[in-house]
Amino acid sequence: MRSDFDTELEQRLVRYCAVDTQSDPDSPTSPSTEIQYDLLRMLESELTEIGASDVRITDYGVVLATLPGTAEGPTIGMLAHVDTAPAYNATGVKPVVHRSYNGGDITFADAPELRLSPETSPYLGEKLGEDIITASGTTLLGADDKAGVAIIMTAARHLLANPDIPHGPIRIAFTPDEEIGRGVDPRLPKDFGADFAYTFDGSKPGEIEYESFSADGAVVRITGVAAHPGWAKGKLVNALHLAAKVIDTLPQQTLTPETTEGREGFIHVTDMRGSAAEAEIRFILRDFERDGLAAKGALLERVCAVVAAGEPQARIDCTIAPQYRNMRYWLEDDMTPVELARSACRELGLEPNSVAIRGGTDGSRLTEMGVPTPNVFTGMQEIHGPLEWVSVQDMALAVNMALNIAKAGAST
Ligand SMILES: [Zn+2]
Repeated sequence: MRSDFDTELEQRLVRYCAVDTQSDPDSPTSPSTEIQYDLLRMLESELTEIGASDVRITDYGVVLATLPGTAEGPTIGMLAHVDTAPAYNATGVKPVVHRSYNGGDITFADAPELRLSPETSPYLGEKLGEDIITASGTTLLGADDKAGVAIIMTAARHLLANPDIPHGPIRIAFTPDEEIGRGVDPRLPKDFGADFAYTFDGSKPGEIEYESFSADGAVVRITGVAAHPGWAKGKLVNALHLAAKVIDTLPQQTLTPETTEGREGFIHVTDMRGSAAEAEIRFILRDFERDGLAAKGALLERVCAVVAAGEPQARIDCTIAPQYRNMRYWLEDDMTPVELARSACRELGLEPNSVAIRGGTDGSRLTEMGVPTPNVFTGMQEIHGPLEWVSVQDMALAVNMALNIAKAGAST
C-alpha cells in the first residue's frame, strides 16, 4: 500500500545512510567517533528547518528537540540512534532503491556473488510490489537505526505541518553509540524530560518490545608466579594455563550463547588476553530474571574459587558489574506506555506482537533511569551485514504508528 510518506522516507533514508556514523567500542571518547557529528548536525539543521523547538546538540552528542503540544497530555519521547554497528564495513554506503519488488532475488552491483533471496529471507517474499532499500554489497545499509531516524523525522515534519492534529508535547532524541551500549548518558533522562518514550529500533511491523535481557559484565584477573622458563621447575605458575582452566570448567554444552535461545540466559566469554605472569578474561552474563542472572554470576565465582584452590600460589579475582536491566521490571508496574503503543498498532490494522529481546536497547537503560521506554518496529531486516534491507512501505507503517502514539497520548 502506497502512502504520502513514501517519497519522503525514501529520500531521508538514502540521505542518512550515505553518512558514515560507525561507532567504536575501543574509543574512550563520547561520542565514540567524531564522524557521528556529521549526521547529528545534519539532523539538528533539518529539525530547525521543519520548525521544531528547543533544537540543540548536547555536549554528550545527543540531538534534542520539542514538538510543542497542540492538546493536553503527557510528554512523550521518541528516540532513534544515529550510529551503525562496528560489526561490518560501514564506510562508503551506497543505498540502492529497488522499486516495486518483483519477488525474485535481489543482486548487488559491488558484490556480484551476493544474493538477497526470499528463500533465505522469507519475510522478503511478503513484500511483493513494495520499494526495498539495500546497500550495494560491500557495506551494511544502516537502516539500523537510520530507518528509526527517518520515521521520527517524517512524523515530526507531518505533525508540525498539521497543527490541527491533537497531540501532547513530543520530545525527540537522536542518540550516538547505541551499538556499543553507550547511548544513554546519565544526564539524558533529565535533559530529555519525557514522561515515557519509545525507541524506534525494532524490526517487523507489529513488534512492540518491553522485555530485554538483564546484563552483567565480569572480569576475571589471574596473577601467576613469573619465572625464567629455563629454571622454572617448581616455581612458575602460568596464568594462561589457569585462564584456560577457568574457561574449560564452565559449562560448554549449556549456558553459552550458541546453545541457548528464547528465554534462556548465558555466560559468554568475549575476550582473553595476558602472559604467563598475568591474564585477564572478560565475560558477559545474560538472563531475563534477576535470580537467573545472579546464579550465573555465582557459578562463575565458584569456578574461579575452585581453580584458585588448586593452585594456592596464584591469585584469581572475579569482579562482576551491572550493565543494564530488563525493562519489564519497571514496565510491568505500569503498562500504560505498552498499552498505548498496542492500541496505536491495532488502529493500523496490525496485531501487536511482543517478544523478549535477547539483547538490550537504549530503552533498557532509560527505563531503569526512570523513563519507561518500550521499543517499536521500523521494518529493518538482516541488520549488521551486507544483506540489510528495509521496505519503504513498512517504514510508512511505522510513521503512522508514531502519529497514532502522539494522538493517543492527547486523549490519555
Ligand atoms: Zn539499533
